[in-house]
Amino acid sequence: MDIWQLIGEDIFNATGIRLRDGRASIGGGDINQAVRLQGEGRDFFVKTNTARGLAMFEAEVAGLRELAASNTVRVPEPICCGVANGHAYLVMEFLNFSRSGDAALLGRQLAAMHRVSRKDFGWDRDNTIGSTPQINTSHNDWVAFWRERRLRFQFDLARDNGCSGNLSRHGEELLDGLDSFFSDYRPQPALLHGDLWSGNHGYLRDGAPVIFDPAVYYGDREADIAMTELFGGFSADFYAGYREAWPLDAGYGVRKHLYNLYHVLNHFNMFGGSYQGQAQQMCERLLAELH
Ligand code: ADP
Repeated sequence: MDIWQLIGEDIFNATGIRLRDGRASIGGGDINQAVRLQGEGRDFFVKTNTARGLAMFEAEVAGLRELAASNTVRVPEPICCGVANGHAYLVMEFLNFSRSGDAALLGRQLAAMHRVSRKDFGWDRDNTIGSTPQINTSHNDWVAFWRERRLRFQFDLARDNGCSGNLSRHGEELLDGLDSFFSDYRPQPALLHGDLWSGNHGYLRDGAPVIFDPAVYYGDREADIAMTELFGGFSADFYAGYREAWPLDAGYGVRKHLYNLYHVLNHFNMFGGSYQGQAQQMCERLLAELH
């Protein structure tokens, strides 16, 4: 059987729905191939990758379920995942996105999602950020979590990937001084999307917000908001809705660079190029706060 027949069987087993012939490629994904499949009365969105991508898809399913259980922001319903003919696949419900929607509602719903808490920072399982492993081993100290599981992990990878000695040195200095950014701020573990750039949100035809492609863990809610600013694309209404529901601490304006440094380092580690210069500038800016 070819891969699409095998995936069709799996969808049938999970939903009782038979696929119609034909499928359409969908652009926009950074990491995986995306395809729309038509079923009787219902369409499916399928991402495929090499077989090694299965763990990544399993973690995505778990993340979508964790977010769905919060009953706050809509996420696509995962249907099944597996390996067929040497390719990993993830099937979820197909959602019809429109150009715009209720951004203020997204802000309020995200704030409600961030109210979902638990005892420690981290999560029950590791996942990936883009194609890079993201380690979520729990920790009760947020600063230690951010230093060891997030920034140091990416700085170590950057060194392996041949980053400049300057970036490495500045990184060490920053990690040593991390406590200073939290002298009067004690974040609580908040349920995070974890990869909330503008390409990972959308709106249904009725304006309802949707977030997808998460890298879930429990952390400082500022990390999610910071990432919405990294590549632009979220409207003023979104921020107004969020702040109305849950105002941000005054120190967010500085810490957001600490949080986005993680993603910029990750981009350097995935794509190289000018992200190194951007990471360097962010380090210098943050170090200036320490001196
Ligand atoms: P990747 O993991 O490769 O980054 P994404 O999950 O971001 O892929 O999906 C790629 C694109 O497919 C998104 O930008 C979005 O436009 C579209 N998309 C994502 N999920 C769905 C869905 N459930 N239904 C329809 N389109 C989707």
